[in-house]
Amino acid sequence: MTDRKHELAGNLAKVEERIVAACAAAGRKREEVTLIVVTKTYPASDVRILSELGIRHVAENRDQDAAPKAAECTDLPLTWHFVGQLQTNKVRSVLGYADVVQSVDRVRLVGALSKEAVRRERELGCLIQVALDADEGGRGQRGGVGPDGIEELGEIVARAEGLRLDGLMTVAPLTGPYAGREQAAFERLMDLSTALRRSHPAANMVSAGMSADLEEAVAAGATHVRVGTAVLGVRAGLG
Ligand SMILES: *Cc1c(COP(=O)(O)O)cnc(C)c1O
Repeated sequence: MTDRKHELAGNLAKVEERIVAACAAAGRKREEVTLIVVTKTYPASDVRILSELGIRHVAENRDQDAAPKAAECTDLPLTWHFVGQLQTNKVRSVLGYADVVQSVDRVRLVGALSKEAVRRERELGCLIQVALDADEGGRGQRGGVGPDGIEELGEIVARAEGLRLDGLMTVAPLTGPYAGREQAAFERLMDLSTALRRSHPAANMVSAGMSADLEEAVAAGATHVRVGTAVLGVRAGLG
């Protein structure tokens, strides 16, 4: 085993232990939580190692970084999640590799995603990114639609050709009423998910929790956690 593979295996084992403990504490089954490893800023060689170590879900947040990386990994049995703010001019490229876009937060983006999915004759999974720090009717600092915009945007995604409404995603806010209250933020996301599932029962993905707060997300009921640093190490620079 290479040094890097050894390192990633060790980190993965620690993250796995944390998820197992969080599930046990919450009275949940381990299988209810899917680990997505956020590989942003790290090379395709790391993605390959993660795949060898049994990881099946990876996430990226910048198309410039993700597109060439994904192109080097087309032989791997991976599901690619796009989790960054997405400009419509990048949609064509992102649909070349992403199976799920977790950062859907505006109507114009839905239109662009739908058009490209139809052009490629494929289906794209979509999560609505929820900004828990948004002003009423507004949008979050780091993307996302405010809670009062979910129902309408969800309906538009559900009706869009080529798109599948899979659920909700959030990033614990740094400002506003939920700053420093990760568990409360994730519980709020769960409530919003419950409301959405009344009209869209299949939209049952709840993506929340990162390296620092995955326990709070699992406790609140998240189905997917997105972990970067705790698996790959602290990122240098952007990301
Ligand atoms: C980078 C990133 C993560 C992972 O964050 P870590 O703190 O490195 O675990 C999760 N979600 C999103 C949207 C990200 O951009």
